[in-house]
Amino acid sequence: MVVILKENPNQAQLDSLISWLQDKGIAIHETVGVHQTILGLVGDTSSIDIDLLTALDIVEDVRRIQEPYKKANRKFHPDNTVVKVGDVEIGGGELTLIAGPCSIETEEQICSIAKSVRKSGAKILRGGAFKPRTSPYSFQGLRDEGLRLMEIAKEETGLPIVTEIMDASQLPLFENVDMIQVGARNMQNFELLKVLGKVDKPILLKRGLSATYEELLMSAEYIMSGGNENIVLCERGIRTFETYTRNTLDISAIPVLKKLTHLPIVIDPSHSAGKSALVPPLSCAAVAAGADGLIIEVHNDPAHAWCDGPQSIKPEVFDSLSKKLTVIFDTCKSEAVK
Ligand code: PEP
Ligand code: MN
Repeated sequence: MVVILKENPNQAQLDSLISWLQDKGIAIHETVGVHQTILGLVGDTSSIDIDLLTALDIVEDVRRIQEPYKKANRKFHPDNTVVKVGDVEIGGGELTLIAGPCSIETEEQICSIAKSVRKSGAKILRGGAFKPRTSPYSFQGLRDEGLRLMEIAKEETGLPIVTEIMDASQLPLFENVDMIQVGARNMQNFELLKVLGKVDKPILLKRGLSATYEELLMSAEYIMSGGNENIVLCERGIRTFETYTRNTLDISAIPVLKKLTHLPIVIDPSHSAGKSALVPPLSCAAVAAGADGLIIEVHNDPAHAWCDGPQSIKPEVFDSLSKKLTVIFDTCKSEAVK
């Protein structure tokens, strides 16, 4: 339930309303806007008489909301959330490009890719140290050594870094990581999400392979309910009957999630497509549809990449794509303003 207050509500009346609700076991999520304050009521609101609330002097309107996610819900928080990763903003009105290899391989590899993507406009470096592979016989990532190499690339380029965590026990190793990625396979690892709710770092939460929008938002809610509200959602392709592509990029996720939530949305065209040739057109479509950013796999030698080479684009392709995306983003942004 959402209670929309009148402008400049009487503080004594507001305090008494809040304590009356709290006595009923309801938690209050207060959002103070420029003109209006909104109270999000979290808990069992079934016993609350809407007419009684609406009749109060300080109340403008009361709405029941059906969605089970509260903190991630745009109804509670009408303004867009801007997530800061180091000094970089996601959702702040600029397109944020995140780029780098699927996996960290060697110091030379991660540093050279980091330098080239930074030159081409990437603001955050990606790279996996813990890799969730379908086969136990595939390369599993360099683990702590990978994180060490990633930190060297961060020092050399100044780019903040994002990398995937697979288990809460790995958290001590993530001290110098700027943004923690929860992979598609872990989107519903609720124990991990609860731990990340207590962490003071932004989270890149990827949509599960067959997860609905509501399931994705409920996973965000797990993290947010623990206190960490710095979450960026990532659509990375979902399972469909189509087998030509690795997954099917769900472009609808962008406008739908923009409507349902205030959290920023980033698109991963690489894991959606599974094929490098599809990455530029999918990236363009995502930016035109309103994505706040993209996370793209870039490799200097895709044919010999240790993981996901077929979907990795070369640095020179990323460079020309980045220029094109800036034009699309600026065009679509100015159209949205009109
Ligand atoms: C990745 O980003 O390296 C990755 C494994 O992605 P996903 O979890 O979306 O498959
Ligand atoms: Mn990958």
